[in-house]
Amino acid sequence: MSEKTNLTYEKKTVYEKAGAEVVAEAYEYAKGYVKFIDAAKTEREAVCEGVRLAEAAGYRPYQFGDEMKAGDKFYYNNRGKNIFLFRIGTENINKGIRITAAHIDSPRLDLKPVPLYEDNGMCFLKTHYYGGIRKYQWLAMPLALHGVVVKQDGTVVNITIGENETDPVMYITDLLPHLASGQMGKNIREAFPAEKLNILVGSKPVDGEEKDSIKLGVLNYLNENYGIAEDDFLSAELCIVPAAKARDVGFDRSMICAYGHDDRVCAYPSITALIDSADTTHTSMCLLVDKEETGSDGVTGMQSSLITDLITEIAKALGGNEATVRANSKCLSSDVTATFDPNFADVYEHRNASLISCGVSMCKYTGSGGKGGTSDASAEMVGWVRRCLNEAGVVWQICELGKTDVGGGGTVAKYMANHNIDTVDIGVGVLSMHAPYELISKVDLYEAYRAFKAFYQF
Ligand code: MN
Ligand code: MN
Repeated sequence: MSEKTNLTYEKKTVYEKAGAEVVAEAYEYAKGYVKFIDAAKTEREAVCEGVRLAEAAGYRPYQFGDEMKAGDKFYYNNRGKNIFLFRIGTENINKGIRITAAHIDSPRLDLKPVPLYEDNGMCFLKTHYYGGIRKYQWLAMPLALHGVVVKQDGTVVNITIGENETDPVMYITDLLPHLASGQMGKNIREAFPAEKLNILVGSKPVDGEEKDSIKLGVLNYLNENYGIAEDDFLSAELCIVPAAKARDVGFDRSMICAYGHDDRVCAYPSITALIDSADTTHTSMCLLVDKEETGSDGVTGMQSSLITDLITEIAKALGGNEATVRANSKCLSSDVTATFDPNFADVYEHRNASLISCGVSMCKYTGSGGKGGTSDASAEMVGWVRRCLNEAGVVWQICELGKTDVGGGGTVAKYMANHNIDTVDIGVGVLSMHAPYELISKVDLYEAYRAFKAFYQF
């Protein structure tokens, strides 16, 4: 007797499909995620959290040339800005590696190299935005400063200002509506130019100083607390991010708003799924990379040769062939997609949109226009992942970002696929993507974790 075949495809929610026990697990799992995302507002901080999770699970630092054997667990901390975890399986390495790849950088405001200036009784820091922000969203709210200053002698000074309740915060002023009639007639791009995103950091002059007396006060504060002077900004990476912490949203506490869900909401389930799937025979990897929001370039981005270097080293150490290993590897590019928003329904194509609560979202392709800039996973790869997720009882959905020709976006998927590694995008749907506070559903987050775990174990 064969089972009754379901002839129609219909998305169902995690609440309908998975039941109360899974929902309760999702709420519990979300608590760990909230701790992670509050501690990881920059890629550097996410790497620190990654190292902490990895070491607690028995992973140890890897150096090129290290020997390895089945059961070994390593992490490679690349310049403090991306981290690759991998665990050696018992099966032949030529069978390939199971890889998940998420990014840990998020849109924000970076300080310019010469940021500090005084203007009409106020002291400001100039910024250069990082990634695709909507500039007006960053005005008139408490902001925090995170990052490092590298002094000329190589000393690294870590700076975090604005996260403790007693810390001062930073602020960008906005135009009062009473005087905005000129601005109201402009389009958003013209109304909010990048050079107006200046961070207010002081207004009190230093006694006895005539020139730049407020700026000197700011420099005094930085010198007393961090031992730095103005020229130390030249070799620094200082980021402005929202100052507030992640919060439950909704009377049912079913959602979380936080800064930087994109893409730490996939990074956290990727790393925890790897750590929690130790009983697999496959060699498995979790990549948490930097620079996705600016095109994945550079030594810490997904386009760096680090991934192929590591695969080469792993293949060599285990007596495999690197080309064979790559050809047989599979990757889930774990990045967020856009959740259908009823308030902006006209930009989505509902049948092919990611729906809130309907589980983790798979995108066969991303890109824009006529599928420009996407690796477009093969039907075979999608079919394989489909079986993997369904057999594990994961609630998942397939989707596109939005209506064709309305816009688009990319992920790290194509850079993995370009290495001859079958790759498909799968991640958590986000509302208000790239806003200072983004929104996700707890059950969608948990299904991402269950999906990545199923992938490592399948
Ligand atoms: Mn992303
Ligand atoms: Mn993004």
